Amino acid sequence: MVIKGIGASPGIAIGKILVLENTEMIIEKRENSDVEKELVKLSDAVEISKAELQNVKEKVKNELGEEESEIFGAHLLVLDDPEFIGEAENKIKNESVNAEYALDSVKEMFVSIFESMDNDYMRERAADIKDVTNRVLRHILGIKVVDLSSLDEEVILVANDLTPSDTAVMDKSKVLGFLTNIGGRTSHTAIMARTLEIAAIVGLNDITEKANDGEFVIFDGDKGEVIINPTQLEIDLYTEKKKAFEIDKKSLELLKGKQSITIDGRVVELAGNIGTPNDVEGLIKNDAEGVGLYRTEFLYMDSNELPSEEVQFEAYRAVLEGMNGKPIVIRTLDIGGDKKLSYFEMDEEMNPFLGYRAIRLCLDRTDIFKTQLRALYRASMFGKLRIMFPMISSLEELLSAKKVCEDVKHELEKEGVAYSDDVEIGMMIEIPSAAVISDILAKHVDFFSIGTNDLIQYTCAVDRMNQKISYLYNQFNPAVLRLIRLVIKNAHAEGKWVGMCGESAGDQKMIPILLGFGLDEFSMSPISILRARRLINSVSKSDMEKLSEDILALSTAEEIESYMDNFIANR
Ligand code: PEP
Ligand code: MG
Repeated sequence: MVIKGIGASPGIAIGKILVLENTEMIIEKRENSDVEKELVKLSDAVEISKAELQNVKEKVKNELGEEESEIFGAHLLVLDDPEFIGEAENKIKNESVNAEYALDSVKEMFVSIFESMDNDYMRERAADIKDVTNRVLRHILGIKVVDLSSLDEEVILVANDLTPSDTAVMDKSKVLGFLTNIGGRTSHTAIMARTLEIAAIVGLNDITEKANDGEFVIFDGDKGEVIINPTQLEIDLYTEKKKAFEIDKKSLELLKGKQSITIDGRVVELAGNIGTPNDVEGLIKNDAEGVGLYRTEFLYMDSNELPSEEVQFEAYRAVLEGMNGKPIVIRTLDIGGDKKLSYFEMDEEMNPFLGYRAIRLCLDRTDIFKTQLRALYRASMFGKLRIMFPMISSLEELLSAKKVCEDVKHELEKEGVAYSDDVEIGMMIEIPSAAVISDILAKHVDFFSIGTNDLIQYTCAVDRMNQKISYLYNQFNPAVLRLIRLVIKNAHAEGKWVGMCGESAGDQKMIPILLGFGLDEFSMSPISILRARRLINSVSKSDMEKLSEDILALSTAEEIESYMDNFIANR
C-alpha cells in the first residue's frame, strides 16, 4: 500500500523504521505504595539517565564542541543535587506515594520557584530541571527514550514531528530519512531535512500509527510516497530509482564553478538558505554563490538563554568568513508563529502567525534587537554582509528598524568598535501590505527578498501549517504571482535588486516564471542549487518573459501548475 504525504526533501530512502514516540506522560498519584520498591525505581531511573547524559555529553563535545555540550552537564548537575532527588525520596518515604508522582511534584515545585525568580539565569535553570526530570520520568514509566546521538544502525525516523534539538544531536550518518505526521513543504522540519540533505516526507497524518520499529520501508522524498513492508518487486524498483537519483546527482557536479546564466546572457545569483554556521559546508559543497537567508532564530532556539552578543558575533563571523567574501544575507530574529523559545515566555495568542513576532517583537524589545545588531555590525568586518528585516508590514516599521541600526552604529563608533560602512539593508516581502506598497518601501532599502512561505499564507489567508486546508496553499495562485511581479517591477523602478528566499525560489516549476519576471537572486536549500543552475543555463530570458506573460493570463493555480508541468515535461 502506498501512503501519500508531502515530498519535503528529495532522495530515495530504503531501510528500517525507528519510531520516535511522543507518548504523553500520564502521572497518577498512588498512595500506600511499597516505599522500598518506589525508591529503587527512582534510583534506577536516575542512574540510567545519568549514564545516558554522560554519553550524549561526550558525543556532543566531540562533534559540536565543549560549549554545545554544557547543557547536558547542567542536566547532570541537577541529578547530582541531593536537594533535588533527595526531596523526591523524602516524599516517597513520608507519603508512601509512587516514584513518578513524587518526582513530578518536586519538579513542579522547583520549576515554579525558579521561574518566578527575577533573574534570567535562574529562569533558564527551570528549563533544565523540566528537561532532565522528564527524561527520568520516562524511564520510571517505561516510555522508550531514543538517544538520537548514538544510533546503533542506519534507520528511517518516523515521528509526529522533529524538533531543532532532535536534528541538532542526531547522528546524521545513521539517519537515512524522516517521515512525519505533521508539517508542510515550508515547515521547519522540511527545511531542516533539505539543509541536511536527508530524504523526507512530511504531512503523513498518522504514519506513527501505521509504522512499527524494525519494519522495512521505502520512500521517495520527491514524490511524497511511502511503502511499508514493500514487496521484492517494489524494493527492486526503488533500488533502481535510487541509483538513477545518485547518477543525476553526480551529473550535477559538472555544473560546479559555472555561472548561473541563461542562454541569452542574463546572469542571476543562486544563493543558499541556512540555519546555522555548520550549514556553510553544504553551501560550499553545492557551489552556492552566497547566502540569501541565514535564519538566525535557530541560534536562539538551540540555546537555553538569549544568545549573548559574543556568541552571535562568532556565529555571524563564521558564516561571513566561511563563505570567503561572497554576499551573506543575515535575517534579524524571526521568532513567534511556529518558532518558540523555551526560555522566553510569550503570551498565548489567538493567532500567533498574526501576532507578536519577528520585527514586531524586536521593535518592542530593542534590548534584544540591539544585541543582535551590534553582533552583526561587528561581524561586518569579516565579509560582505547584508542585513534583512523579517515581517515588515509598513514603512513606519522599516524606518524604525533602520533607526535602531543607526543607533547601534553610533554606539559602536563611540566605543571605537569597527564596523563596515558597506552593509546593505534590506527587508523581506512576506506580508501582502508590504508587497502592495513596495514602490514606497523600495526607496528606503538596498534590496528586497520575497518570502513566499509566508506571502502565500497571508495572501490566501491559509495557515501554512494546517494540513486540512493545505490544498489552498499554492505558490501558483495568480494573486501570489501578481504580487511577486509587482514587487520586482517596483524595486527595479527604483534601481534595487530583488531576491527570493521562500521555498518557491528553488522550485523547478517556479524558476522559469521568476526568471521571466526578472528576479535577480534565488535563495534556496543548498541541495536545490545545482539543479536550479542546470535549468537556468538551459533557457533564454526572453522565452521566460513570454512564458510568464502566458502564465499571468491564466485564471487559476491549477491551470498555471499544469502549464508548468507541461513545460517541464517537454524540455
Ligand atoms: C518565508 O516566509 O518565505 C521565509 C523565507 O521565512 P520563514 O520560512 O523562515 O518564515
Ligand atoms: Mg517568513
